[in-house]
Amino acid sequence: MTQKSYDAIIIGAGVIGCCVAFELSKRGWKTLNIDRLPAAGYGSTSYSCAIIRTHYSTFTGTAMAYEGYHIWREWGDYLGVKDESGWAQYRETGCLALKTDGNNNMASVRQHSESLKIPMEDWTKTQILERLPFLDLTKYGPAKLSDHPNFGEPTGGDLAGAVYFPKAGYINDPQLAAHNVQRAAEAQGATFQFNTEIVAIRSKGDRVSGITLRDGNDIDAKVVVNVGGPHSPKINAMAGVLEDMNLSSRALRQEVAYIPTVPNFDFEANGVIYTDEDIGCYAKPEVGNKMAVGSHNPECDPDDYVDYDDFDDNLTDQAQHQIYRLAQRMPTLGIPGHVSGAVACYDQTPDWIPIYDKTCLDGYYMAVGTSGNQFKNAPVAGACMASLIEGCEGGQDHDLNPITHHLKNIVQDIDLSFFSRKRMINTESSFTVLG
Ligand SMILES: Cc1cc2nc3c(=O)[nH]c(=O)nc-3n(C[C@H](O)[C@H](O)[C@H](O)COP(=O)(O)OP(=O)(O)OC[C@H]3O[C@@H](n4cnc5c(N)ncnc54)[C@H](O)[C@@H]3O)c2cc1C
Repeated sequence: MTQKSYDAIIIGAGVIGCCVAFELSKRGWKTLNIDRLPAAGYGSTSYSCAIIRTHYSTFTGTAMAYEGYHIWREWGDYLGVKDESGWAQYRETGCLALKTDGNNNMASVRQHSESLKIPMEDWTKTQILERLPFLDLTKYGPAKLSDHPNFGEPTGGDLAGAVYFPKAGYINDPQLAAHNVQRAAEAQGATFQFNTEIVAIRSKGDRVSGITLRDGNDIDAKVVVNVGGPHSPKINAMAGVLEDMNLSSRALRQEVAYIPTVPNFDFEANGVIYTDEDIGCYAKPEVGNKMAVGSHNPECDPDDYVDYDDFDDNLTDQAQHQIYRLAQRMPTLGIPGHVSGAVACYDQTPDWIPIYDKTCLDGYYMAVGTSGNQFKNAPVAGACMASLIEGCEGGQDHDLNPITHHLKNIVQDIDLSFFSRKRMINTESSFTVLG
């Protein structure tokens, strides 16, 4: 049976799926988000560390992040409506990124930040220790697993310093942020359907015509957008568009540990977003004066590609390795006997840059491959997708004549072919979760 039809069906109601709905519905599109889970943001969004960095390894990535920062800072203005559950909060803690040999002392990151006039400060070792007196700035890199025979041995001298980005921070509740955007989209006329799984993408000739649900019902739409998170490659396979892509994405399993912070320091109040490529870890303040500790996926960490419908969601030794690595830098950090944390997946591309693009099936688009670093960009990604979809549906061939998107807060145009499925692997990338 065919239900009523829509201008666009958006597969997924994670933070990016909701933002695509909001941006399209603001432009007058009649949208329907369908999600197999019970509420917005219950997929990988709910596991996100929701770090809002203002720096990336590429110019376009940096521009998007800085545009995003302006939106998170004025979140209520962006949404334009109240949410009965309240608004997610932006906590502007600043981000300290250590200069290492591997990141060339942050040279390219600094250059992009400088050209976009993003506030940043070069900090000496003394300045770092003034803010975080418990750090040991000895070089230990390259990062090792904690059972490596040379783990914990200094590898020569101290780190050169750090770059401090004062505008960075994190969102306190990523799932609530997605719910906020759902409410904002609904206020523009968008519809959401939960506990509903899409099992097929239908087409007529070269053009998408709609989707089929697990219960056998069809829903028609002029446009279908895959925002399925780590399920997105399976959805692309349903649509038969994988062959036409130069690069695709895979579900990469991740562990994030939640631990008590160093003694005698209120990390929740005075901590920062901390990124350290020398030990291959990042840390962020968490409620209850805790720290979330994640991996930069250095070479020593196994690439744990999984079937997103069937993977082990228990913490393993990997979480312990991350904590031990951080304890090299924070020698007073206790190693908890019992570690709590979260296990989730990135939808990772080979260059850790997302794919925001059209496909070889007319009317079928994707916002996928978000590689563990696109929560911060969700509102901007939603707007980019709306520009892309309107441009392509208006007849522009994005593959030959790329669509640009205007970032209005920072007054900067970006060329959306940067995110193309047809691109060569971007060698400017950090090839880590930093993008
Ligand atoms: C552990 C972790 C830490 C992270 N930390 C950060 C960070 O600090 N900063 C940052 O910027 N980014 C971070 N990210 C990345 C960020 O969270 C993601 O890029 C973002 O949440 C992706 O949102 P999404 O809407 O694309 O996908 P998701 O939130 O995964 O949503 C996809 C939705 O699609 C639905 N779906 C899939 N298939 C179907 C189907 N067939 N039918 C119906 N529904 C379907 C799913 O149920 C799901 O709800 C992190 C990610 C993880 C996993």
